[in-house]
Amino acid sequence: MSDFYLNDADHPTPDFVLAAATDVAELLVIGKRPDNWPETQLPIGAVAFEDGYYGLWKKTEDGQTQYTAPHAEVPNDFAIDIQVSGAQGTQTALFLAKAIAAVDKKMLANFSPLASFASSAGTIRGSDVREDWQNLKVKVVTVIPGYESTPADEQPVMAIRPDGAMYVTPKIMDDGNYGDPNYMSGKGMNYAIMHEMAHQTDRGIAVAAEQQHQYRQQHEGSLAGYYDRATPNKYMVEQEHQVNNIAINMGLYIGLDVPLTGITYGWQTGDYGGFTGNPS
Ligand SMILES: [Zn+2]
Repeated sequence: MSDFYLNDADHPTPDFVLAAATDVAELLVIGKRPDNWPETQLPIGAVAFEDGYYGLWKKTEDGQTQYTAPHAEVPNDFAIDIQVSGAQGTQTALFLAKAIAAVDKKMLANFSPLASFASSAGTIRGSDVREDWQNLKVKVVTVIPGYESTPADEQPVMAIRPDGAMYVTPKIMDDGNYGDPNYMSGKGMNYAIMHEMAHQTDRGIAVAAEQQHQYRQQHEGSLAGYYDRATPNKYMVEQEHQVNNIAINMGLYIGLDVPLTGITYGWQTGDYGGFTGNPS
């Protein structure tokens, strides 16, 4: 089974996706095939991912937004808000949706709310991670809020801003970026999602607070320059290292295909059951 269908005759893609997809508002990732769908075909406006996950486009027409295929509420709905018009927006959303489906399935199956594992940043708890995951909002945007003045080639492809949303620009599909199949052995998107999720965990937040506090003490109370990636400071590097540690160990813990090498600022293995890993 392929990851998703764009032009498969058995899985028709709505023509608004292939033509002028200026009115696509959302891609909903659902983890259960609705009972009212035909058994062998997908309804127009739906896409199939692996592992029994599906996608459903929401379209805006005459000021009204609506799903383009019949949809019954299912427990693990996950909406991607698409604010970029045209194929760039839809392709980025499709790419993200595929990874989100994989993470969702493994997170729900393999990280019980009662479970936990040790990381160098402290104990990572299933109850915390699952709540963070459930509350995560993903938005496809042209420019990440707060990074408007950053040169396009330095613009981060993803960040969790203070409103708790994970912002992704279509640049994530560029060569050498997380969506590039030649980058991080094709596991870049899984890494990116795990990394941003790790920032949302209690320990990820604590590690950032601690390092930023230390940085401020050295810089007259200011955080200016903290995220200067051209000349990284040791506090930001330590923060990212610890977050990577949570991210990669969490990916391994839930059985997600994550990269073990090529990770900026590196990581070190956790202690949840004998994995000895390959820290970089
Ligand atoms: Zn980070």
